[in-house]
Amino acid sequence: MDSKLQRKIEKLMRDHCANYLNGGCLLTDGPCVFSQVHGAPSCRYAQGSVLPAFPDVEEAYYNSFGKSKRKNIGTCDMCGESYTKCSNRQKFCHSCRERAEKESRRKRDSRYREANRRFRKNIDS
Ligand SMILES: [Zn+2]
Repeated sequence: MDSKLQRKIEKLMRDHCANYLNGGCLLTDGPCVFSQVHGAPSCRYAQGSVLPAFPDVEEAYYNSFGKSKRKNIGTCDMCGESYTKCSNRQKFCHSCRERAEKESRRKRDSRYREANRRFRKNIDS
């Protein structure tokens, strides 16, 4: 986070954070993380309730530690399209999902059959 952005966010906290009081944080009973320079400051309250009201600052904030603010956007493993994630484990876009499921079922089945075959062989011999 560069110092220009740092000052911008500090000011934003002073003016707009409901938990900011004289450089301190009412939530943590410590100093506001944005008034400290070291590291990448992260404050759940600010991220959830203060920054979203200032999209340009929010974007710069997330960019400053290489995170995309739209973390619920995923890239499909199959076609490479972006889509909105419904869960963290989701790997494919809506149109690829069915195909992906079929394929993984096929793989799972063939693994199962293979294991079964080996198992039987071991019994027979
Ligand atoms: Zn896809």
